[in-house]
Amino acid sequence: MNTYLSAPITTLSGVGEARKKAYARLDIHTVKDLLYHFPRAFENRGDVRPLSDVRSGEKCAVVLTVSTECRVARVKRGMTLLKFRAFDDSGVCEITFFNQDYLRSVFPLGSVFRFYGKVEQTGNRYTMTSPAYEPYTEIRPLPPLFPVYSLTEGLSQKIISANIAQVLSIATARMEDPLPEDIRTAEGLVTLPWALKQIHTPDDYQSLHEAKRRLAFDEFFRFALALGTMGKTPRTTGAPICAVPDTTMKEFYDALPYELTGAQAKAVADIRRDMSCDTAMSRMLVGDVGCGKTVCAAAAMFVAVKSGRQAALMAPTGILAAQHADDLLPFFASMGIKGALLTGHTTPAQKKKIYAALTAVDPAERLDVVIGTQALLSEGVNFAAPGLVITDEQHRFGVNQRATLSEKNAHAHLLCMSATPIPRSLALVLYGDLDVSRIDEMPPGRQRVDTFVVDESYRARLDAFIRKNVGEGGQVYVVCPAVEEKSEDEEGLIPLWADFGREGSFGEQMAMTPPWEPSDQTDMKAAVQFARDLSARMPDLRVAYVHGKMKAAEKDQVMGDFAKGEVQVLVSTTVIEVGVNVPNACLMIVENAERFGLSQLHQLRGRVGRGQRKSYCILVRAGGGDTAKARLEVMRTTYDGYRIAEQDLTQRGPGDFLAPVSGAGIRQSGGFRLQVAEGWPDASLMDHAFNHARAILNEDPTLDKYPDLREELESVFAMAGDILN
Ligand code: ADP
Ligand code: MG
Repeated sequence: MNTYLSAPITTLSGVGEARKKAYARLDIHTVKDLLYHFPRAFENRGDVRPLSDVRSGEKCAVVLTVSTECRVARVKRGMTLLKFRAFDDSGVCEITFFNQDYLRSVFPLGSVFRFYGKVEQTGNRYTMTSPAYEPYTEIRPLPPLFPVYSLTEGLSQKIISANIAQVLSIATARMEDPLPEDIRTAEGLVTLPWALKQIHTPDDYQSLHEAKRRLAFDEFFRFALALGTMGKTPRTTGAPICAVPDTTMKEFYDALPYELTGAQAKAVADIRRDMSCDTAMSRMLVGDVGCGKTVCAAAAMFVAVKSGRQAALMAPTGILAAQHADDLLPFFASMGIKGALLTGHTTPAQKKKIYAALTAVDPAERLDVVIGTQALLSEGVNFAAPGLVITDEQHRFGVNQRATLSEKNAHAHLLCMSATPIPRSLALVLYGDLDVSRIDEMPPGRQRVDTFVVDESYRARLDAFIRKNVGEGGQVYVVCPAVEEKSEDEEGLIPLWADFGREGSFGEQMAMTPPWEPSDQTDMKAAVQFARDLSARMPDLRVAYVHGKMKAAEKDQVMGDFAKGEVQVLVSTTVIEVGVNVPNACLMIVENAERFGLSQLHQLRGRVGRGQRKSYCILVRAGGGDTAKARLEVMRTTYDGYRIAEQDLTQRGPGDFLAPVSGAGIRQSGGFRLQVAEGWPDASLMDHAFNHARAILNEDPTLDKYPDLREELESVFAMAGDILN
C-alpha cells in the first residue's frame, strides 16, 4: 500500500508529463500528496430552494424538470446558444449554455436535474446561464456538498476530482491506519480511509464533520510527535555557573530608572537561582504585553556577563531587535558592558567584526552581549564564553530555528519570553518541562487603555478624534484587516474550515478572517486604500502605511519614521502586532475589528498606553452580527491577556497559536500541512492529540514500537529537509 501511495503522480491514468508539471505547481508529486490535497471549500448544493425563494443574482441549487425541447440558436461568429426551460412548483426558469450543442441529448423533455449556479430574476422570469447540473432522482439523493479544489493552469476541477476518485478507490480499500487503534477508539475517531473518502466526497454534513475531526486529530498528533522528537536537547549539566553576589546586583538596580515590581523581582530571583547551577536553566518568562519582561532579561544578561560569560538575546523581527538594542545597549554601556546589534541589515563588514569580537579570547576585546534576529543563528556566530541565550516572543520562531538554537547552545542557560499564553498542552510539546515564571503585575502608574466598540456611524466623530489626538501631539495607529478578494466564483462557497458543528451561524463564521491567516499574507489593499482616503480627508496630517507585502527595509523605514514622530498616523495591517514600542502613540483604531482574534486585539491595544498620554483603543465593527458584538464586548470589559486568550481559544480554536509555530517552520516545507487542524474550533482535540503524542514519546522516544508512525514522520522530515541537520 505504501508503495502505491508514494508512487509518483504519473502512475494515475490520464496524468502525463504536462499534468505532472501542473501538479508540481500545487506541490503535489506523489499519489499521497494528491490524496491529502483536500478541497479548499464546498459548494453548498444541498441547500435546494424553490425558484421563488431565490434572491436575484444569488448562487444556489434548484431542482427543476425540463419542460421544453432544447433550441439551438446560431448567433454571430459561429457562437451557438442552447436554451430550454425547466420548472419547479414555484416558477419557470430559462437555462442557457454557450457552444455546447451536444447537451441537447443530455436534457430530454421531462428529465429532472439539480442545477447549481447563479439565478437571475426579472419580474417573474428566472434565468440561469451555464449552471452545473446533476441528474436528480428522489430515490438516490445527491450529496449536498460538492468539493472545490485549489487549481492551477492545466488542472480543472473535473480533472482533479477524477484523479482523486481514482486514488480513493484504490487507496481507501487497502490503506493501513498508522494511528494506534486504542487511541482511535478512545477518542471516538473514524478510520483513516473513511475520513479521506469523506473529506473529498462527503455524504453529508455530519460525515464531513467526523472526517475533519479525524484528520485534524492526525495533524495535531503528527505535529506534536514531530515537535517532540526534534530539536530538544535535554537540559545538560556542564552549564557555566553564573552567580553574582547581591552587592554586584545592586550596581544593576542602581542604574535602573525605576524599582522592579514584586513579580519582576521574583522572576529575577528565579533566574539567578537557575543560573547559579551547572544544570542549564530552561525557563520561560510569561507575562502580558508591557509587564516589563525586558528588564528581567537584562538582569539575566547582567548576571551572565558579571560571571565572565556572554549573553545573546534573539527577537523575531528586525524592528524588535533594534528596539531592544536601543533600550539595552546604552544601558549596558553605562556599566562598561560591551554589546552589538546583529540583524539582516548588518553589513558584511560589520558582521565580520562582530563575529570576531564574539570569539575574541581576550575579554578586553570581547563582546559581552549581542542582540539580534535569526541572524544570530548563522554559522559565523560563535561565542568564546557562551553563558545565556534569551529568545523574545519565542513562539514566533519556526521549529527549525528553535532546533538550531538549542543545538548551538547545548550548554548555555536558556530563557524564553512570551506575551502569549500558550495552551499548556502546546507549551509542553514545544518546550518540554520548562520552568515558568509568570509576571502577573503591571509596573505602577500604568494606565488602562479605555476601549470602545463603535460602528460606521461614528466615522465623522472618529476622524475628529484622530485630529484631536494628533493636534495635541500624539500619534495614531490604524489597523486594517486582511481583505480576501472574493471573485464571483467564491460566492456561496463553504470554506473547508467552516463547520456546522460550531457555534455561531455560518454567516457569522464567514465574516471572520480564518484565525490562522498569517499576518504577512494580508492583502495590502485595505490598508493602502484607507491611508489614501484618510490623507484625502485630512491632507495636513502626515499619514503613512505599512503592510506585510512591503520589503523588510521599507517596513523598517516607515516604522522608524513613526517611532521618530515624523509620521503622525500609521495605517497598517497587523505587522505592528509584535512588540513595537512608541510611547507617544495614544490612539489605536482597529477597522473591521470583528475579523480579528481577541488575543490579536489585545496585542494591538497594547501598542498604546505606553507613555504619559491618556490612551484609547477604538474597535470599529462593520458586521458579524451578535456573536461579533459579544466577542468585542469582552475587549471592552477585560484587560487581562490571559483571560482574553482563553476566550479566544474556546471561540476560535488553536489556530492563532499554531499558525506562527507551524507557519515559520515546517509547514511551507511541504511535509506538514495543518490543513484541517488550524481551523479546528475545539481546543480539546488538540489537547488530547498532544497528550497522546507525549505519552507515546515518553515511553518510546524513537517510536520503535510504532513503525508506521515513524515511517510517516521520517517522510515528513525527509521532505522538510534542513530541519534535522
Ligand atoms: P514586555 O513585557 O511587553 O516586553 P517591556 O519590557 O517592553 O514589556 O516593558 C514595558 C515598559 O515598561 C518599558 O518602557 C519599561 O521601561 C517599563 N517598565 C518595566 N518595568 C518597570 C517598572 N518596574 N517600573 C516602571 N516601568 C517599568
Ligand atoms: Mg517585549
